[in-house]
Amino acid sequence: MDATAANLLLAHHRAAARDLPWRMTPRDPYRTWLSEVMLQQTTVATVTPRFLRFVERWPTVEALAAAPEAEVLCEWAGLGYYARARNLIACARAVAERGGFPRTEGALRKLPGLGAYTAAAVAAIAFGEDAVAVDTNVERVVARVFGIKDRRDAGEAARGWFPAGRHGDFAEALMDLGASICRPKAPNCPVCPIAAHCKAQALGRPEAFPAPKLKKERPHRHGIAWLVRRGDEVWLVRRPGKGLLGGMAALPGPEWGEERPAINAIAIHHHGFTHFTLDLMVVPRAEPPPGEGWWHAVSELAAAGLPTLYRRAVEAALEAEREPRLAA
Ligand code: SF4
Repeated sequence: MDATAANLLLAHHRAAARDLPWRMTPRDPYRTWLSEVMLQQTTVATVTPRFLRFVERWPTVEALAAAPEAEVLCEWAGLGYYARARNLIACARAVAERGGFPRTEGALRKLPGLGAYTAAAVAAIAFGEDAVAVDTNVERVVARVFGIKDRRDAGEAARGWFPAGRHGDFAEALMDLGASICRPKAPNCPVCPIAAHCKAQALGRPEAFPAPKLKKERPHRHGIAWLVRRGDEVWLVRRPGKGLLGGMAALPGPEWGEERPAINAIAIHHHGFTHFTLDLMVVPRAEPPPGEGWWHAVSELAAAGLPTLYRRAVEAALEAEREPRLAA
């Protein structure tokens, strides 16, 4: 692949780059890092308003480092993948302690929770290093342009294609092309600025590149969430700091297991995690179970910082209370 396609894509990007709130000039490493963490597994449309709220509340990495963990987790509620939020806090504290973000991919990689992709993206976009950031959008575009089936080979091809001195711009150009034109399904090849250089397009079946990931069968689990009411309030607890949904607000309940509990629920919320699916049965209970917790007004549940699993389970239970019918 010669440099022509890269130059065409960069020229297209200069004219058509998405206007996103973390793409300020000069680049702020805090905003670059924060946006990259938020965008993992989450769409730009979902992230944009949440990002704006986040930086309004904590405008610098030092401000985030000084924030109480429970408040950050509460602000993160609904974005999912809560280990990201816990890593975010640990990373902000490490950065504040050392007096700022390190400027190289290698040094960024040593920060808590910063994976290979995020380290490369921050180094390239915020600090202008020639690091190669390959996310799923970049991987897809590169696989199609080079006609590569195996995703693992796309990273290697990308390394040879990124133009020296322009790695940050080029990564963003590829990300934008992947999000708007070279979409996973129905890529819009007729308007693509590099269509004349694309092998997958020349073969007439761009969607076939890269080969689809094999979907693994996910195991299924069952859980109970106790719904304890006191007038217009509901009893909430904080989950243990480590593990799934660690540190997040929740309804109380025992550990989830593989057997379906023999109990009647007023609502069952079905939820898909990355590695398993869950049926969470919401069961009324007269008194809070032993342990710490707090009463929270039902009318203010949106501010409780409940992750989507529990927010939907509570909504389903309240709906069932209004319109009683036994769920199990
Ligand atoms: S020509 Fe089509 S498949 Fe190739 S990069 Fe452009 S949009 Fe993607």
